[in-house]
Amino acid sequence: MTVTSRNVTIEARAFATPVNDPEIEEVIDLISGEVQRATTLIASHQYGELVEARVAMREAIKKGQPRHICAICGTPVHLVANMRKRFFFRHKTEDGSCPAVTRSALSEEEIRARKYHGLRESEAHKRIKQLIERSLRADPAFDTETILQEKRWNATDDPQMWRKPDVQASSSEGWFAFEAQLWTTFLDVVVSRRMFYRDVGAHVIWVLATFSEDYRRMTTDDLLFSNNSNVFVVDEETARLSEVSK
Ligand SMILES: [Zn+2]
Repeated sequence: MTVTSRNVTIEARAFATPVNDPEIEEVIDLISGEVQRATTLIASHQYGELVEARVAMREAIKKGQPRHICAICGTPVHLVANMRKRFFFRHKTEDGSCPAVTRSALSEEEIRARKYHGLRESEAHKRIKQLIERSLRADPAFDTETILQEKRWNATDDPQMWRKPDVQASSSEGWFAFEAQLWTTFLDVVVSRRMFYRDVGAHVIWVLATFSEDYRRMTTDDLLFSNNSNVFVVDEETARLSEVSK
């Protein structure tokens, strides 16, 4: 690295450096459906790669298909470098309304609710819903007309109380709500959904995109051990096998 008074030149293969205290601490990758720490994401790329990614990010935003959004407010973000070529994320439009910028104190719960909402908008989430629907359509036990995505369910006694299961379907065994668990699902979400579906007399099935016995997040264990140590996973292979074997 050569430092002059006017310019900082960084070798293309050196790892990129984030700023120390970014306003936007976490971003959501809408394709993988992961919440990522901004500093970790930046530092994991070589400088040259990151500059290239930065251009692609701007293009994606211009095309209305942003890849990364702020985990707190859901606004598309792009990468910016300061004069020392240290990187950070900035909102596409910086109107000062994001709590990350105003440094207003959100409760832990509000932050989680916001991230959960952001993840639900992701490509990864759309993909897993499709896989669940395909798997259900392959199974003659389910009535095809009842297989629906994102359709509201109201509580029987209280019209203000409703949930929108990722996928729902009914069979002779009753009504089922299928909820995808992406990278992470928060315990309060799991608990409130369990209670809601129990009250309306339906079964709730949590479905994961991946599962590794040796590497389980706490959030996976919350699901696993509250379901008699059962876990459901759907991916391209299981969906295909469901179609083949019905
Ligand atoms: Zn924000």
